[in-house]
Amino acid sequence: MSGTTKIDFCPYCGNKSEKILIHVQSYDDVGYYTDGLEKGCECVYRNHDFLASCKLCSRVLIYNTHPPRSGEPEDFLLSKRVFPKDSLIDYLPPELSSMYEEALKVEQHSPSLFTVQIRKMIEAICYERGVSKGNLYERLKEMTKRNLLPGALSEATDLLRKVGNIGAHEVNGGIHPMEVDSIKSLFTAIAEHIYIVPSKIGDFKNNYQQYREWARNADEQKNQI
Ligand SMILES: [Zn+2]
Repeated sequence: MSGTTKIDFCPYCGNKSEKILIHVQSYDDVGYYTDGLEKGCECVYRNHDFLASCKLCSRVLIYNTHPPRSGEPEDFLLSKRVFPKDSLIDYLPPELSSMYEEALKVEQHSPSLFTVQIRKMIEAICYERGVSKGNLYERLKEMTKRNLLPGALSEATDLLRKVGNIGAHEVNGGIHPMEVDSIKSLFTAIAEHIYIVPSKIGDFKNNYQQYREWARNADEQKNQI
């Protein structure tokens, strides 16, 4: 097994770095047929999780293949990361996604730079939503006025604007490392509201008819047994 490696993004250290396979964990999993006559019916299958570590920061990551394969170490090369899953990277528009990757790269060793990057991202979100006039304070007010940000998140966004100023000018002692988690959580809440929730609602609407059809199909199959 040793020697199987691949390059992938690391949400811990923010680098595209070598991931080293350390263990393959096999287990029985439950899934649902999505094609053939048994669509929507339950099936038990052998699944395999690939535990790997990041060569740069030594943190542990978990990968999996979909559909499942035989669990050979070579399958690690075809697997996708399931933990930690930094969902923001997956949902943000491409330009914001690369800005967030940059923020993650400095998160651990420079709280001030991280905070400044998050402030830049708030500016970029306003721009991406069509609000580009005035300073950031004015843009955030306009975002709220246009209903692009609800009241609670408008306050969160303004807090990020203020700590971004502290990070940029290193005033009041700069940003303490303990603040970084709170700053990240606030930003995640804003990005979830603007990008993730609408995307999930869209996915559900797109799949709803298919789920209903599968449920009816599974019910019919049960009644035939
Ligand atoms: Zn890493």
